[in-house]
Amino acid sequence: MREDIKRVGLMGGTFDPIHYGHLVTAEVARAKFSLDLVIFVPAGIPPHKKGMKISSGTDRFMMTVLATATNPYFEVSRVELERTGPSYAIDTVRHFKRELDGDTEIFFITGADAAIEILTWKDATELLKECSLIAATRPGYSTCELEKSLEEARLHSTQRINLVEVPALAISSTDIRRRVEQGDPIRYLVPWTVEAYIYKTGLYR
Ligand code: NAP
Repeated sequence: MREDIKRVGLMGGTFDPIHYGHLVTAEVARAKFSLDLVIFVPAGIPPHKKGMKISSGTDRFMMTVLATATNPYFEVSRVELERTGPSYAIDTVRHFKRELDGDTEIFFITGADAAIEILTWKDATELLKECSLIAATRPGYSTCELEKSLEEARLHSTQRINLVEVPALAISSTDIRRRVEQGDPIRYLVPWTVEAYIYKTGLYR
């Protein structure tokens, strides 16, 4: 890893599929928190989704690579896809702490609905000491419950816990999967390369 990389965002999500809401979230976080790099980390087995049907790691990884290829600040990691067992954020953050320079600051970026549960995540207190959190909300999202949860999380944290509203998160992976299943268009919701991949592979049919 380059030595000039001092502030890194880890963009955690299932990305089934990745869409413009995710890409805008990463870009907003990069600009707002002066990140040198954002590493997208498709979840292997999301801890709260054990037994649920999700697309293969290969398909989600391929779509993430296609979506991020033109942005020099974005990279994609296979670390959670290659690890066996549930994809705990603490293991991922520790992996990158080992890989990166000792004084690199890590920001874990994810959706507000996932972040609201953060205190139930594995080794939550340790996680909140080892990285800052950026929780992205959709427009119209009621932040009361989230603020309460993050306030509690702040008590365990020496790092920053941040909330960013991302209008483009009106787009959701659930809606895209439903649209494909029903034969509705997904153009302009995902990069055209991801749209082509979905149709070529028959995902979500
Ligand atoms: P999810 O339940 O599928 O997503 C919750 C909400 O957040 C959805 O509305 C989702 O929208 C949105 N979202 C997810 N990732 C996002 C991102 N990077 N940027 C913006 N919005 C995002 O959550 P998930 O994707 O499975 O998990 C999110 C991350 O939290 C993953 O990295 C997962 O491994 C981690 N996590 C860790 C633990 C743990 O360590 N114990 C427990 C739970 C989750 P879309 O459906 O449109 O993406």
